[in-house]
Order: sequence, then C-alpha cells, then structure tokens
Amino acid sequence: MEHPENDPQYQGLAVNKGVQQPPVVNPYLKRRRKPMPSAAEMVEGILAGDITMLSRAVTLVESLVPEHQTIAQEVIEKCLPYSGNSRRIGITGVPGAGKSTSIDVFGLHVLKRGGRLAVLAIDPSSERSKGSILGDKTRMEKLSVHPDAFIRPSPSAGSLGGVARKTRETIILCEAAGFDNIFVETVGVGQSETAVHSMVDFFLLIQLAGTGDELQGIKRGIMEMADGIVINKADGDNIDRARLAQAQFRNALMLFPPTASGWKPEVLTYSGYFELGISEVWDMIDRYFDFVIANGYFERRRQEQARYWMFETIDEQLRHNFYRDKEIEKLLPKLENDVLTNRLSSFIAARKALDAYFNKIS
Ligand code: GDP
Repeated sequence: MEHPENDPQYQGLAVNKGVQQPPVVNPYLKRRRKPMPSAAEMVEGILAGDITMLSRAVTLVESLVPEHQTIAQEVIEKCLPYSGNSRRIGITGVPGAGKSTSIDVFGLHVLKRGGRLAVLAIDPSSERSKGSILGDKTRMEKLSVHPDAFIRPSPSAGSLGGVARKTRETIILCEAAGFDNIFVETVGVGQSETAVHSMVDFFLLIQLAGTGDELQGIKRGIMEMADGIVINKADGDNIDRARLAQAQFRNALMLFPPTASGWKPEVLTYSGYFELGISEVWDMIDRYFDFVIANGYFERRRQEQARYWMFETIDEQLRHNFYRDKEIEKLLPKLENDVLTNRLSSFIAARKALDAYFNKIS
C-alpha cells in the first residue's frame, strides 16, 4: 500500500519506497563447507603429517556429540600403532611464572634440532579453557608461526578426568602425525598436575625466585612430582635471588624420598625472556631421557600410564553413564532428601542408587 505521505498534495517529508535488501549472509557460503572426512581419510591425512586433518580429528576428540566420539575413537585406534615415538614433557608453574614465554623459547630450541613440536594444555577451570588462554597463539608468538609447531589450547571445561583424557588422546594423534616432541602445559595451582604427570615422561616445574614455595601456591606434592625445577627470570638484578632460590630448592629436594626412576631432580636457573640458560635446561632434560631409557624406567612409566588411563577411562565412563541415566536422575534427589532427613544412611542410599542402576542394565 502506498504511504499516504507520498501523495503529491502532501507537504510534509516524503517517505521513499523501500528497496529489497540483499541477504546479509552469502547464500552460497554454506556450499563451501567441506564435508566431514571419514575416519579412514582422517587417519590417512594424519599419518601423512597433514596438520589440517590432525586439527579436525582433535576437534572430534574434544566434541561431546556421540557420533563425533565414535569416529574419534576409530581414528585413535588406527593411529595407536604409530604413536609413542616422542618425548612427552609436562610444564607447569603458577600464572605469571613465565610458562608461555618459556615454552616459546624452549620450543624453538627443540625445533632447531629438527622434528616437530605439539604444545597442548590441560586446564579444566572454566574461564581459562574457553579456548583462548592456555595454548593461545598470541602467547607463543614465535612458535605459533613456526611450520613445525602445532599449538592447541586446553579442551573446553569439563571434569578434570575428561579434559585430561582428551589431551592424552590428542597426544596419540599428534605422535601419529609425526610430532616427536610434545609439551603439555598446565597451571601449577591445582589438581591437573597429577593428570599431566600421568601422561608425560618428564615433568618440569617453573618457579620464581624471591618467594617461598607456599607463597607461589605450589603444593609440596607438585614439587615431589617434578623431574626438574627451573627458576625463571634469572636476569638483571634478579640473578642473585634466583641463585639463592636454587640453593633453597636443592636443599628442600634433599629431604624428599628418592624418586621411582632413580633420577635425582635437578634445579637450574634461566631466563626465558632474555634467553639465558636455555640449552642448560635442555641438556638436563636430555640427560634425564638418557638415564631413564637406559635403566628401563622410561618404558615402565609409559606402561603404568597406559594402565592408569585404562582405569581412568572406565571410571569416567561409568560415572558419566550412571549420572546421565534418566531413572537415576529422578531417584537421586529423593535419596538425597532421605539422607538429609536422616531416613536413610548415606551408604544405604548409595547402595539403593547403585542397585537401581546395575539391576536395570544387567
Ligand atoms: P605464564 O602466565 O606462566 O604463561 O607467564 P608469561 O610467560 O605470560 O610471563 C608473565 C610475565 O613475566 C610476562 O610479563 C613476561 O614478559 C615476564 N617474563 C617471563 N619470562 C621472563 C624472564 O625470563 N625474565 C623476566 N624479567 N620477565 C619474564
């Protein structure tokens, strides 16, 4: 209908007829989306070292969609025989310790010898792991543009076990794609260290001088896991303090029980930012690998880890299936209420829930 204000007699402002607007989104765009490759195509791409295919497979590993998981598991299974041939190094330290600066420098140092490097991360805390903090490209400026480096942020938030399992599966895919150096980064403040420790060969703890270890929020347990402690920012007028911290850490380590590997964890100082002492840190890591390969611990630890992950995965899956069960979802609040009102003991309530679940599935 013509707008009354467009009448020639009309003295006020005219309203123009509109023109049809083109669609905002290019209608042809979706045609360009590549179809999902089959598991066999992914495996072929990964084994050929194709990073795009590797990324797509890792995305499936991280996906919660059951069909994606099915393909991911098939890809992992086929890649498994080609995995294992790498040095897996865990790197931890509190925020600000200099992990990203150091990983950038360590990474380049490693790549100078040739080979490929994957930097993965485990961070189950929700905000950080939204895909941008740990493993973020801008944090590792040099590595992120290196053709032989693959940087992947932490899988998005979930249970620690779930996030860690995905990272472990990603390690398998990276190794099959020819990555012979794997760094797994974690923030040294919580539980994730145990998970990282159970998937790496060497665990490096980055510390800072000038604060006691309580102040740095590093738990004793984490220090006990470390195969090497490195004190960062040993530069400028911080050098003396870094040396002092080195002596203190060495003393502290002497009180710890001997390690299962027989290796005596070393304490070194370095500066990631000014690139001082980097090759010394790496020489230590080389010495460690020589030592544990020679005494058989390397192989033993990997076997123990494989067993650990088998049971972890069973635990995780059982828990997941149990809590997702519709009947259990309905039953649990009632049982919880009975426990809170003292009508049932915790153990009897738990038994009832488990019986309900297992009777149903058997
Ligand atoms: P992250 O949180 O552990 O990843 O730590 P970053 O690598 O982001 O470093 C935190 C801050 O410390 C940044 O401002 C860095 O520039 C600085 N930094 C890192 N390494 C060194 C170092 O070796 N010497 C000095 N002086 N500063 C450093």
